[in-house]
Amino acid sequence: MAGVNDSTVTDPEESGAHATAEVVVDGVGKTYTGDGTPVRALDDVSFTVDSGEFVCLVGPSGCGKTTLFRVVAGLTEATDGAVRLGGTPVTEPTTDMGVVFQEYHLFPWLTVEENVGFGLERSGYPAADHDRRADEMLALVGLSEFRDTYPKSLSGGMKQRVAIARALAVDPALLLMDEPFGAVDAQTREMLQRELLDVWASTGKTVCFVTHDVAEAVTLADRIVVMAADPGRVESIVDVDVDRPRERDDPAFGDHVARVRELIGAAP
Ligand code: ADP
Ligand code: MG
Repeated sequence: MAGVNDSTVTDPEESGAHATAEVVVDGVGKTYTGDGTPVRALDDVSFTVDSGEFVCLVGPSGCGKTTLFRVVAGLTEATDGAVRLGGTPVTEPTTDMGVVFQEYHLFPWLTVEENVGFGLERSGYPAADHDRRADEMLALVGLSEFRDTYPKSLSGGMKQRVAIARALAVDPALLLMDEPFGAVDAQTREMLQRELLDVWASTGKTVCFVTHDVAEAVTLADRIVVMAADPGRVESIVDVDVDRPRERDDPAFGDHVARVRELIGAAP
């Protein structure tokens, strides 16, 4: 079985790679300057995600969620302010972050197992451990029997499980996700939400998860950063004070959904 002989590779406590995985978003602004009028996509956005915390960013389309996701991931440069991960300024993508996009971004010419192992080449994992690590991650997302399959024959939900396994393979401090379940049907989405919470519980990762689905945010998050548009900014930060596992028919669940919808200005 994977990982039996060497727990140091897989146990974040023992690997000691991330003393803290706290994310600090400090006064981040972003202005896109193209040919036309400049767009102020983010203005003075500040919040923190504590180590091990699950934070959702919620807001209407165009409020800057993806821009903020890309700035935190080191994929887009902020115009103002800074992002720090474990105290270190983020200036470019690193293996300290596992990133999951809405559109899967799997490599069609690689098998499931090769996709999951892809980032390990750039990581600190010794080459001898790569196969075992990929197998371990596949087991974590329940896809072991599909290791030799190519992405084209997987369902959307399965593709996103592969993307999550790939993001986690390098044992990142932070799991960063942009509307990862936006393209799957409602039933699959709820299943993936439960699975993600299981993965979070078993790995203790810090998670920053973007969604425009308020019920999804209330299902997942310890705290919700509610954003507003024009310019993209933090409207409010809501503690989700609902017992886990969360049930949608719990009145506290409904209360939180209603409160966040009101803050966004959406119809209840
Ligand atoms: P969200 O993910 O919340 O829908 P985005 O971050 O994608 O929001 O977009 C925020 C604003 O920035 C929108 O007005 C969008 O049109 C604009 N925008 C996003 N990306 C670019 C870009 N590359 N160039 C110019 N404007 C952009
Ligand atoms: Mg977006």
